[in-house]
Amino acid sequence: MRCEIVAVGTELLLGQIVDTNSTWLAERLATLGIDCYFQTKVGDNLARIEETLRLALSRADVVIVCGGLGPTQDDITRQAIANVMGVPLQRDPALLARIEAIFHQRGHSFADNNALQADVPVGARPMATIAGTAPGLICPVGEKRIYAMPGVPREMREMFDADLLPDLLRRRGDATTIVSHTLYCLGLGESVIAERLAPRLQALDTALGTTGNPTIAFLASDFSGVRVRLTAKAADAKEAQQILEKEAHEIRALLGDAVFSEGCNDNDPTHHLPEAVVLRLLAERGKTLAVAESLTGGGIGARLTSVAGSSHVFRGGIVAYASDVKFEMLSVPRGAVISEEAAAHMARNVRQRLCADVGLAATGVAGPDAQEDLPPGTVCVAVAWGDDITTRTLNLSGRPREQVRILTATWLFDMLRRKILGLSN
Ligand code: ATP
Ligand code: MG
Repeated sequence: MRCEIVAVGTELLLGQIVDTNSTWLAERLATLGIDCYFQTKVGDNLARIEETLRLALSRADVVIVCGGLGPTQDDITRQAIANVMGVPLQRDPALLARIEAIFHQRGHSFADNNALQADVPVGARPMATIAGTAPGLICPVGEKRIYAMPGVPREMREMFDADLLPDLLRRRGDATTIVSHTLYCLGLGESVIAERLAPRLQALDTALGTTGNPTIAFLASDFSGVRVRLTAKAADAKEAQQILEKEAHEIRALLGDAVFSEGCNDNDPTHHLPEAVVLRLLAERGKTLAVAESLTGGGIGARLTSVAGSSHVFRGGIVAYASDVKFEMLSVPRGAVISEEAAAHMARNVRQRLCADVGLAATGVAGPDAQEDLPPGTVCVAVAWGDDITTRTLNLSGRPREQVRILTATWLFDMLRRKILGLSN
């Protein structure tokens, strides 16, 4: 089966937004072993969308379109599909009722133009899931198919998993279910992880991540470390789970305590961010947290408070950016402020001043210039667990300023996790 992706939106062509939908879809298709030779971006122009769809259909069995399904003037994807199918649009009363009910449920008034979203090319059918208000469409074109989904990434992903993927697999003659299991890892780089997992990759013959059952894929991010995603195919969900559990067991043995979270079908990856994980661990133990941060300028606190429910654990923070703020607010001894000793003072004193059980601290050189004769990327961090203080110097050199700041927070969360669980740091 061959597939093409078409992303619709003039904003994409003007460089105003990045086409993350195509990337996400491409990665999903690759894991499923579906070839995708072309991805196209096209503006909100009827003739050009039509032309793009026709070309894609001439080369592929399945075309996935995202964007332009909303109720406004520039949302013309459904009309373009109808033209390609050679059929008119027809209002679907059952769909209209569903959309109206969604508006009603959310307490929004139903503007007339929203009814346009209930227009469906004759012969096409709406997807069962409506994640926002725009329904996705499954549109047969001869032996081939166009799938249309809204551009909003969250809505698109939900519909892909719930409706598009099952339909795609049925068409491929796969009486199969696909389930994925992700292991979230911190403390090891992507290359180290790949090296450790080499025997498994070999055993599964999945060096490219596209064959084997399960398949293994790596995804690295500064915010959440490295994700190792296993995807299994089986006749039913239970069998897929068994394949995944067996493989996850092997992988845990190879990665050890680098695995800090795990989840199935990662529909809510924010649940597995390191900040969310440490907040849960602290909440379970009834501990509260305070932060003293310098080079991150509030970034550590911001990440903690972006997690719902953080107020049960997070007391607050002191952004001690200038040296004299560290001296006066956090009783850091006058002198050098980028040292493990300074970090230890910051963690201890912020914990005491904010009446928290645990204190975190980060001080360092974000760059691009050196400071206190230390090169950019030199960062000292500390965790004060009661009176027990652990410090560490991170070497994040060679990275741009923003990455140094993000990684500082990520690594500090991991250090805290290790402290909480009694693991070596
Ligand atoms: P809506 O009902 O919200 O209008 P829609 O199907 O019409 O949905 P668009 O108007 O094309 O979708 O896009 C809505 C928003 O979704 C965009 O403003 C953008 O933020 C995001 N978006 C659209 N296409 C993409 C894409 N390819 N990648 C990432 N984000 C996208
Ligand atoms: Mg729109």
